[in-house]
Amino acid sequence: MKHADLIWDETGTPCSSQFDDVYFSKVGGLDETRHVFLAHNQLPERFQALSKQDERKTFVVAETGFGTGLNFLACCQLWDEHMANSNHELVFVSTEMYPLTHEDLQKALSVWPELEKWSTPLMNSYPKVCTGLQTLRISGKIRLILAFGDAAESFSKLNASIDAWFLDGFAPSKNPEMWSDRLFQQIQRLSHQKTSFATFTAARVVKDLLTNHGFEFKKAKGFGRKRDMIHGHFVQANAPHNSNANTEVWYQTPILSHPNKTAIVVGAGLAGAHTANGLANRGWQVTVLEQGECVASGASGNYQGVLYTKPSVQETKEDSFYLASFQYAVQHYQAHFSESEIWQQAGLIQLAQSEKEALKLTRVNEKYLGTSFNQKLSPEQATQKAGVDLNTNFDALFYPDSGWVNPAEACRALLNHSNIQVICNTKASSVERTNSIWNVTLETASFSNESSKDARSSEDTISSKNKVLSADIVVLCSAWEANQFEQMKHLPLTPIRGQVSQVDLATTSAEAPNTVICADSYVTPSDNNKLNFGATFDLKDSDASYRNEDIKTNVSKLQSISTEFKVLDELNEEQITGRASVRCITSDRLPVVGMINDHDAMLDQYQQLAKDRKWPYQEPGSYHPGLYANLGHGSKGLTTIPLCSELLCAMVENDPLLLHQELIDSLNPTRFTINGLIKGKF
Ligand code: SAM
Repeated sequence: MKHADLIWDETGTPCSSQFDDVYFSKVGGLDETRHVFLAHNQLPERFQALSKQDERKTFVVAETGFGTGLNFLACCQLWDEHMANSNHELVFVSTEMYPLTHEDLQKALSVWPELEKWSTPLMNSYPKVCTGLQTLRISGKIRLILAFGDAAESFSKLNASIDAWFLDGFAPSKNPEMWSDRLFQQIQRLSHQKTSFATFTAARVVKDLLTNHGFEFKKAKGFGRKRDMIHGHFVQANAPHNSNANTEVWYQTPILSHPNKTAIVVGAGLAGAHTANGLANRGWQVTVLEQGECVASGASGNYQGVLYTKPSVQETKEDSFYLASFQYAVQHYQAHFSESEIWQQAGLIQLAQSEKEALKLTRVNEKYLGTSFNQKLSPEQATQKAGVDLNTNFDALFYPDSGWVNPAEACRALLNHSNIQVICNTKASSVERTNSIWNVTLETASFSNESSKDARSSEDTISSKNKVLSADIVVLCSAWEANQFEQMKHLPLTPIRGQVSQVDLATTSAEAPNTVICADSYVTPSDNNKLNFGATFDLKDSDASYRNEDIKTNVSKLQSISTEFKVLDELNEEQITGRASVRCITSDRLPVVGMINDHDAMLDQYQQLAKDRKWPYQEPGSYHPGLYANLGHGSKGLTTIPLCSELLCAMVENDPLLLHQELIDSLNPTRFTINGLIKGKF
């Protein structure tokens, strides 16, 4: 991605040398934004009216040309002026082909101290790697989705229903490629009956594009020395917008409305806790069912987890997904848990295990050259940073934004929400939909008081007579065990057993490293004077019992990271403790996030695919409406779960989705049915 090449004029206004045009008016950029984009989309009036409405709404603004973010920040300011006491959310989607560097952004925004409340979080979360779609949380009520690349291309991959357009992006005479029919086709696709637009220009080409794509416009007095500007409305839509209509028919899920906003989440691990928290923040009443005796009793109960990132050299779908997930997870942990015992941004050193891998790390470093996403370290530099003598002859990579999380504490913190009730010792055995309501049958369990220690109130514990719970939606976050549900049987979920080890540093002369170190296994900085390392990896093994032989495996892998850990040989087996748990992966290694498809019905619907991949299907896929899954995160859950959970909540609420459509499709459970049909598996 090429950054913006800026020239700063004598007034401190940035100008683009790529387009030979200014980013905003030299005579009052902020006033220009307020006049053109805010006032002529009637945002002050619309925000005011919305603030009086009880039912929660996500208001979506989309912009061509993010630039310095001035329009965005002015919109945030207006939003907060009106929404102080409401729970509505502003989602601002903006595209940018030549992002400003962090330094340029800082310089450009430093002239607007009144916008600091929003520009500071923007600067803190501005992505180091500007590619694809990146989501930034500016506050609890404001989310920014930055789509890097050409505007028409970016919007073609986006799923959203836009309430107001800011058509910015340099004058059509200076940037004719952007003001194209391709772009306006997307603007038309993403607009609905009440969509408005405003733009600083009144050029003929723009008026024609608007008219040809369903908009009516009016002229108004332009800002400053500009004579005219235009603004108006979309007048063509006659059906509610279906924001997921730009994909293959089988990936198109039904649009649902949820009058009661009640949800049951199965599983109180990281995926369940993040999903429940996301829904609760959107005003849902959530009941979380956990078969274990406490929150995070499965793999999320490990002592310390690593915010893992291992980008590939090539630009693949998977790589884009993991990059977006990693950058989102960093901001998420920083925002929720910074300066706490739950998250420490200690950085992560990735060691190469072979010459081939060392070459790969070098190429990954080159891929991100010019960013501070990762840094190449010589073996000596790596040892110095780690604070332990690393057993490597190869250059390593350092990821400064990464670190470690206490997953169980993170789960507890996320579940501690007035809209969430957690019920432990309770197994959901089946789910069934009747009259648009999901009923979850609970297996007879000992509904003891102990079971409710994580619940909001122990009185909330279910009586053994009442063994069915009902809600608008159910989200299965129960990892590989979700296969037990009839509707999930077709999903290729595989268990992976993993055992982690722990040593009390008071019992040894060994010292914990300063950063996370990843090689064939990982070791984390000290937490409560404990050294944590691991984990074993046994594919298709679902036995969570503790094994003595796994201690040796973990210790030996740790010693191959640094011979300083040889001193652990002096400890007896009781002095090295640990825990085993079972994670879940899918056959293509990507998680499952979204509404569950009706596998058998789809096999009937799309059977022709087995013979002809290009069969012109019209009919949307069959889904279990309101039954969702968020699972299959394998050993990368700390990285992927925050974004996937937000994505799932956005799906439930029909909000703009946080990834490009092709990535959303590659997480959709339907992929297994369709790919299986195409390959003649069924
Ligand atoms: N809205 C911006 C602000 O508040 O600072 C000012 C936008 S500036 C006038 C125009 C922006 O559009 C530049 O950042 C430029 O790089 C971007 N741009 C130009 N052509 C584009 C395209 N085809 N797709 C996406 N962004 C584009």
